[in-house]
Amino acid sequence: MVLVNEHYLKLAAGYLFPEIARRVAEYETSEPAAADRIIRCGIGDVTEPIVPAVVEAMHAAIDDLADRDTFRGYPPPTGYDFLRNSIAEHDYRARGIRIDDDEVFVSDGSKGDCGSLLEILGGGNRVAVSDPVYPVYVDTNVMAGNTKEALEEGGYDGLVTMEAREENGFVPKPPAEPVDLVYLCFPNNPTGSTIDHAGLREWVRWALEHEALVVYDAAYVNFIRDPELPRSIFEIEGADRCAIETRSFSKNGGFTGVRCGYTVVPKKLEGRTRDGRRVPLHGLWNRRWCTRSNGVSWPVQRGAHALYSPEGIEQTSMLIDHYMTNAAMLRGGCESMGLRVFGGTDAPYVWVRCPEGVDSWAMFDRLLRKAQIVTTPGAGFGRCGEGYFRISAFNSRANVEEVVNRMRAMV
Ligand SMILES: *Cc1c(COP(=O)(O)O)cnc(C)c1O
Repeated sequence: MVLVNEHYLKLAAGYLFPEIARRVAEYETSEPAAADRIIRCGIGDVTEPIVPAVVEAMHAAIDDLADRDTFRGYPPPTGYDFLRNSIAEHDYRARGIRIDDDEVFVSDGSKGDCGSLLEILGGGNRVAVSDPVYPVYVDTNVMAGNTKEALEEGGYDGLVTMEAREENGFVPKPPAEPVDLVYLCFPNNPTGSTIDHAGLREWVRWALEHEALVVYDAAYVNFIRDPELPRSIFEIEGADRCAIETRSFSKNGGFTGVRCGYTVVPKKLEGRTRDGRRVPLHGLWNRRWCTRSNGVSWPVQRGAHALYSPEGIEQTSMLIDHYMTNAAMLRGGCESMGLRVFGGTDAPYVWVRCPEGVDSWAMFDRLLRKAQIVTTPGAGFGRCGEGYFRISAFNSRANVEEVVNRMRAMV
């Protein structure tokens, strides 16, 4: 009989979103009259349609496929040159960062990249993640066998966690113990925190000193408003020797359903073999893509490319304005309840401290029962998330206005 990957059996049951769904369903059953009033501010999916420039480009790309003369077959596995060039040019070189086109690898999204990255790394790397955390970093490492069993109190034996708390502005410090691989996400999901140049320099210095690899998840980079904040880890000298950066068109381009993102692997970046030889990761990642994938479809890559056209840039910035205005309104709503509010100024997530003595799930229940607002309990993202909840700015304006009104009425 076929053997299974037993590391999968260590995975703790996905608890957070199923538990939210269970509580909402239970409430709907017990209060059918209130069920229609429920507004979901929980899951981090976008709500607004893709912008006209992208729609046009994708329609035209479909027409290309419908005609023998313009038909396209298999794309290059790592992305069409026109898209790799636009990405490198607009997101890096225009900001003074030296990234070559062939250091950009186009993919069907950055969640997948976070996981498949582990295919080119050896087993047994010591891994550090923040707490609270985007659960993908944790679970993919469990599946790859980089941890031991799940712990009773949450987390996994053998996984190093770095605390992100109010005291450190939700920006964890490099761990004291030795690690080989660390995940950073800024602007952060779930806390909405950002990191400044000094903070990022500290991380790069630490990674170079300890020869650790930093996976920098910049999925929310386009939501940064503060011109002083770094847009890429590669703004920091030396990061091209210790970091991989992954980005996504999901949140800024509304591509959660279209599926496209990219990962930058600098050619200078190296790992090592067990016997100490240094190996560039770029070649391994290239090989991984060429062997395991036939790339991203023509209409999707044409759509992503249109995000970089003048119309695409203009329309996308309006889309981001929409969500960031939502975020500001939600911050105001929470503040009117007398709560301490974090994030939501350079990220589409507002992270809110529960009232004294109320835990994450109790606050979740209170907002559901009193105001029919569905939030995400912070405890679901890790132990340090206890005592907080997350509100997503991905919503219609009408819903956000209604949420804010109900919050005001709750006081
Ligand atoms: C939404 C999100 C992504 C993007 O994932 P895609 O697969 O590109 O849709 C990546 N990282 C974080 C932290 C996210 O919240």
